Amino acid sequence: TVVGVVRESGEGERRVALVPKIVASLTSKGVEIVVESGAGLGALIPDELYVEAGATIGDPWSADVVVKVAPPSDAEIAKLTSGSTLIGFLAPRNAENSIGALKAAGVQAFAVEAIPRISRAQVMDALSSQANVAGYKAVLLAASESTRFFPMLTTAAGTVKPATVLVLGVGVAGLQALATAKRLGGRPTGYDVRPEVADQVRSVGAQWLDLGIDAAGEGGYARELTEDERVQQQKALEEAIKGFDVVITTALVPGRPAPRLVTAAAVEGMKPGSVVVDLAGETGGNCELTEPGQTVVKHDVTICSPLNLPASMPEHASELYSKNISALLELMLVDGKLAPDFSDEVLAGACVTREKEN
Ligand code: NAD
Repeated sequence: TVVGVVRESGEGERRVALVPKIVASLTSKGVEIVVESGAGLGALIPDELYVEAGATIGDPWSADVVVKVAPPSDAEIAKLTSGSTLIGFLAPRNAENSIGALKAAGVQAFAVEAIPRISRAQVMDALSSQANVAGYKAVLLAASESTRFFPMLTTAAGTVKPATVLVLGVGVAGLQALATAKRLGGRPTGYDVRPEVADQVRSVGAQWLDLGIDAAGEGGYARELTEDERVQQQKALEEAIKGFDVVITTALVPGRPAPRLVTAAAVEGMKPGSVVVDLAGETGGNCELTEPGQTVVKHDVTICSPLNLPASMPEHASELYSKNISALLELMLVDGKLAPDFSDEVLAGACVTREKEN
């Protein structure tokens, strides 16, 4: 089986789907790897390191399996050959057109977003590996935008109180944000609509904010709130947010616009110099004043909505993603040949171009 590693074409996308360490481990298992020249450059990996790891530099698009990070553009879909397999982030819930185009092109596509969130598949869970990067980086952004320290300081020139940090939505990114804020010396508090998260929040040394709304949905995700719940939540958060120096939001509901948690009035109630980092900008933002992709100052509060934060740490983000991709690949290989077993719920779940049986 030949696996092709492409050079990402999306603006600002610096990650690569396989790093040389993982290439070496796959080639030792009999997989042939072709890397597009410059594929690793965004992550500071020159072609030579791929060659040393056993890959060849060439055309990855005609490989049996093409591995990618970002969803393919139309031009990229046109380069894929019928009968080939594509693995990567494919945004299956928001990109029906490109899934249709992949189907029409005869490409067997596996979306890493659709891998079931079960224990056995944790090693392949690219949503989690990249959310960890985003949660970490969000806190660093908040700290650098803040007019105040994160840690408590006792100095000859006076004492500084630690920053209070509220994380709204405690999935993988939120939990990493809480842990990172704690490591920086801040006082983190977590809030979510899934009550089961409370123990995880406490386990990283953060406090749990309980607003009495339970919206646990299917598969470990949250459901969308009813109109009444949404109003109740916004009002309660408006009060709670006043006491925080930093608010980091990560709340998502699969396939839906990001829930609005932070109203304009809540921002207005924050102390001047406070910071909001909204990680939900891609689906519209959790804060009413968010401008996706921008950093704006409203009511003397800085609101950042970075897009694709994992790409800003391309080295480790690519390393973790590579591990996810190689684990998924290995699940599909039998004696070095691609032979996905669709009775395996992980592969059946991840494959988005196969007609699903009822
Ligand atoms: P996500 O990115 O879909 O959402 C982030 C968080 O936002 C979630 O915790 C969600 O409950 C919360 N949220 C949604 N609407 C909200 C609202 N109105 N107010 C407040 N919070 C709101 O979540 P994720 O990081 O992808 O994690 C989803 C689930 O998957 C979790 O249960 C997680 O533990 C689980 N998970 C399981 C595995 C595994 O076992 N393989 C791996 C990773 C994650």
